[in-house]
Amino acid sequence: MSRGVVVGSGPNGLAAAITLAAAGLEVTVLEAAAVPGGGTRSAEVTVPGLVHDECSGFHPLALDNAFSRRFDLAAHGLRWAAPPVQYAHPLDGGDGAAAYRSVDETADQFGDSARRYRQLFGSITGKFDRIAGEFLQPMLHVPRDPFPLAQFGIPAALPATWVARWLRDERAAALWTGVAAHAFHPLTTPLSSAIGVALGTAAHRYGWPVAVGGSATISRAMIALLESLGGTVVTDTTVTSLDQLDSPDVVLLDTSPQAAAGILSGKQPERVARAYRRYRHGPAAFQVAFAVEDGIPWSYEPARRAGTIHVAGSSSEVVAAERDTWSGRMPSKPFLLVGQQYLADPDRAAGNLVPVDAYAHVPAGFTGDARQLVVDQIERFAPGFTRRIRASHVRATATIATDNPNYVGGDITTGANSARQLIFRPRVAFDPYSTGVDGVYLCSAATPPGAGAHGLCGFHAANSALKKLERGGGPQASRQQDSTQQGSS
Ligand SMILES: Cc1cc2nc3c(=O)[nH]c(=O)nc-3n(C[C@H](O)[C@H](O)[C@H](O)COP(=O)(O)OP(=O)(O)OC[C@H]3O[C@@H](n4cnc5c(N)ncnc54)[C@H](O)[C@@H]3O)c2cc1C
Repeated sequence: MSRGVVVGSGPNGLAAAITLAAAGLEVTVLEAAAVPGGGTRSAEVTVPGLVHDECSGFHPLALDNAFSRRFDLAAHGLRWAAPPVQYAHPLDGGDGAAAYRSVDETADQFGDSARRYRQLFGSITGKFDRIAGEFLQPMLHVPRDPFPLAQFGIPAALPATWVARWLRDERAAALWTGVAAHAFHPLTTPLSSAIGVALGTAAHRYGWPVAVGGSATISRAMIALLESLGGTVVTDTTVTSLDQLDSPDVVLLDTSPQAAAGILSGKQPERVARAYRRYRHGPAAFQVAFAVEDGIPWSYEPARRAGTIHVAGSSSEVVAAERDTWSGRMPSKPFLLVGQQYLADPDRAAGNLVPVDAYAHVPAGFTGDARQLVVDQIERFAPGFTRRIRASHVRATATIATDNPNYVGGDITTGANSARQLIFRPRVAFDPYSTGVDGVYLCSAATPPGAGAHGLCGFHAANSALKKLERGGGPQASRQQDSTQQGSS
């Protein structure tokens, strides 16, 4: 029986392990932290009984994809639930805009710009299953559905600020810029619309669901499935060198490219090692979890029913905040994502005390304390919020980076979403999962299709490893080859 080792138990590491185990390999996952799950963890960090997501909260791209269609996590306890309103964007003076499941209901808020909103999201929402199949894999492939992909690709290729101007209506522009800002990248650059188009369309197609019981139920279901296939997860084990591993046939690294270069030190071709060392990380997050009595009193009523609230004000304020964080300046009014998961999953609350998970976009490696800025931004659109806070818990940027070494400098997307890294991640290669070392693959969110708790990076990386293994490639195979060559020389 062939053996596989996966380093790291984030959703991609677990998806890779499941894919290898389902192919008949004996699989062990080695995790540095005491608790498995990487970016899919939950804990009662403010008040006992309130369930907070420590990292991923909303999962629009995890619901229906190549991995979820192949492996039934529902059979292992995973359930999704979407909030009444998918995301909202409050503006000063109690106004705002909201994204509903229906494209028409969303467009109808925008008066004369309704037609433009429908043009942006309407036609691609119905075809999104096929389109998502194309972009949720390495970019270098022959598309099966070129026409719908082109309909998606044209707005995706534009700077998000161009799309905002084209939408005309300020509320539509703000709603759009808020979703585009998930890219953690200046919104004036080419391809800065790509993530906004994907997440905005997914909101209409699938909603932005939470995992019932907390995001930790995603990793729990994945581990249960892995164990049912004979795999195991070992925690408290940091891997720093390939030599620590007992010559498995395949190794998948759910790590940052830099950490992978360290683990493979001296074994990678120099050009690949250099590409890994030069891999660029983006801005960071600063998290504050709140226990709030009676919920946040948003002035814009639909925000009280929304799972995610994008907080920054007008479209130009979002653009300015993202430009500043990218340039290393901490904005006085940062862009926030505020998660109200309990609206989809009421059991996470305790009576009238509800959990809220917020984070601000801050510069990479930010060392300051942004808690008050987060509170002030929410208070600006929800007067009276401060008086309702019963407890809070901060995870500063440095803590995010030390809790999980994949989040280099606090970059929760495991790599900047620059145009180059959106297309070629982590380096320009036909097989982006290959590390240049036989049998060893990178499978983290630093590979296609990038960040998110969807498991697709791990799934594709494991399939790449399995194909190579079938053809006879792997560390054991290459070691055997080496010894045969040495013996014959
Ligand atoms: C605050 C925050 C909010 C987020 N919100 C969302 C969201 O709403 N929706 C969404 O889809 N995504 C969200 N994300 C991103 C999502 O969590 C990540 O993209 C996803 O978890 C990446 O999965 P991964 O398997 O690549 O890596 P990770 O989940 O980061 O897991 C990597 C694992 O590998 C371990 N590891 C690393 N190096 C080693 C080593 N050398 N030896 C052993 N173990 C090692 C780490 O300890 C970690 O457990 C968020 C992340 C954060 C932090």
